[in-house]
Amino acid sequence: MEKYNSIWDMYQKKGISRRSFIKTCTAMTALLGLAPAMLPKVVEAAEKRLPVVIWLHGHECTGCSESFLRSTAPMASDVILNMIALEYDDTLGAASGEPFEHHLQEVMKNYKGKYILAVEGAAPPDPKGGFCMVGGKPFVDQLKEAAEGAAAIIAYGTCATWGGIQAARPNPTQAVSVNEIIKNKPVINVPGCPPIPEVMTGVIAHYAMFGNLPPLDNRNCPKQFFGNRIHDTCYRRPFFDAGMFANDFNDAGAKAGWCLYKLGCRGPETYASCGNMRWWNGLSYPIQSGHGCIGCTSKDFWDNDPFYQRLPEVAGLGLGNIDKIGAAVTGGLAIGITAHLATSAVQKKKRDHKELEEIKRKEEEKERENRGKD
Ligand code: SF4
Ligand code: SF4
Repeated sequence: MEKYNSIWDMYQKKGISRRSFIKTCTAMTALLGLAPAMLPKVVEAAEKRLPVVIWLHGHECTGCSESFLRSTAPMASDVILNMIALEYDDTLGAASGEPFEHHLQEVMKNYKGKYILAVEGAAPPDPKGGFCMVGGKPFVDQLKEAAEGAAAIIAYGTCATWGGIQAARPNPTQAVSVNEIIKNKPVINVPGCPPIPEVMTGVIAHYAMFGNLPPLDNRNCPKQFFGNRIHDTCYRRPFFDAGMFANDFNDAGAKAGWCLYKLGCRGPETYASCGNMRWWNGLSYPIQSGHGCIGCTSKDFWDNDPFYQRLPEVAGLGLGNIDKIGAAVTGGLAIGITAHLATSAVQKKKRDHKELEEIKRKEEEKERENRGKD
C-alpha cells in the first residue's frame, strides 16, 4: 500500500484538488472545537509528516474499535490510511503471528520517543496470572514496553480509562486502567462504552495535526469533548426545568418526550458529548431513543447500578429535591430560558460557520495567487 508523508501529500498523489483539501481542514477545525481563525494553522499542520501510531488491545470487547471504524467526520478510513501511519493494531492488522510481533519491536525501536500509543481495554496487573496474553506474553508487559518509548498515550474507552466492565465487582482478574499501570507519563482519557466515533478520531487527529495534547480536564479527558454534562445539552432539559417527568417507560409523559430523570437517567452527572454530537453521524443518541443515560463515561459506571433508579439528587445544580422543581419554577420561564440558550448556541454555530467559510475562501484565493506566480 502506498505511504504518504502528509495529508496534503496524499491529496496531491491522488489528484484531489486543493479546494477539497481546504474543505477537509475546515471540517477538522470545527470537529476539534477550534476557533475559525485557526483554519490556517490546521492547513499548515495537515501539510506536515504523518505520526506513527501503535494500537494495543487488552481486556475488552473491541467495541471501541467498532465505534472508531464508524466515524464519518473524519472518516475512520481517512484517519487510518491518510492522517496517521498505523503501524501496529492486532485487530486491524492484515499480518499476524511472529512477523507481526517482530514488526512491533522494529517500530518501537525505530520511532522511539515519537510514536502515539493508543490503548483499548483494561490490564490485569499480575503478569503471572495468565490473563490476557498477547503474542505469547502478558498484555501488561506489552503495555509497559510500548509505553516506555511513546510520545503520547491515548486510553480509548471506559475499560482503558477506568477499568470498565472487566474491573466491575468482583473483578476476578483484578483488571485496572492504563493510568494505574503507566504512572510516569500523561495518559489522555477518552472514556465511553464505547466512545463516540468522532470523539475518538478527533482526539487522535488533534495530536496528529499539532503534535501536542488537546486541553485536558482534571480527569485527563479532552475538554472539547468532555466539558459538558449530557444534561447541559439534552433536548429534554426544558421538561426537567419545568418539573415534567416520565414516571414509566409506557406513560403519556414518556410518549410526549418528557425528562427521563425519574427513570434513572444519569445525564445530570455524566460528562460526554452525546447530547450535542449524537451518534451515527448526528442521527440520534440513547435519550433521543427513549432510554436514559447510564453514565458509561463515568468511573465505575457498571457498579453504579441499578440503572433504572433515579439519582438521589442532582449534583452541581443546587436544586436539592427534584420533586420541588416543578413548583419552584414556572414552566414557561424555565422553557423560555432554555430555549433562549438553545437559540444562542445555534446563532453562534451559524456565525462560526460563516467565519470559517470566509477564511476558507481567503485560503483558496491565496492558493490561486501562489499558483499564478509559479
Ligand atoms: S435528566 Fe436525563 S433526560 Fe432529563 S434533561 Fe437531564 S439528561 Fe435529559
Ligand atoms: S448517553 Fe450516557 S450512557 Fe449513553 S453513550 Fe452517552 S454517555 Fe454513554
